[in-house]
Amino acid sequence: MYIYTLNYPFQEQINHMKMQKEMRKFCPRCKTHTAQTLALYKRGKDRAGAEGARRHAEDKKGYGGQKFPELKRTAKTTKKMTLRYTCKTCQYRTMKEGLRIRKLEI
Ligand SMILES: [Zn+2]
Repeated sequence: MYIYTLNYPFQEQINHMKMQKEMRKFCPRCKTHTAQTLALYKRGKDRAGAEGARRHAEDKKGYGGQKFPELKRTAKTTKKMTLRYTCKTCQYRTMKEGLRIRKLEI
């Protein structure tokens, strides 16, 4: 049996994963194990008027505007997912990020 360590170069890929909607987990604010609900984190909508977006638009202007190479052929078949746990007693949210799962079932 091989035990996967942190410096193992390839991340283990899980194809299909079933997870419980509610579980008991450690809450850093309550400092005990509490009942927490699981949800999939979704990125918010980008604001066009944000400082970084305006700077990026200014950088991209004119001849030779692209500052970094565009990714044309992607090697990965999955995207990294972020799970969001919400504490039921204090509503504190913790994230578990960087999971590569093809299909997640909650
Ligand atoms: Zn809590």
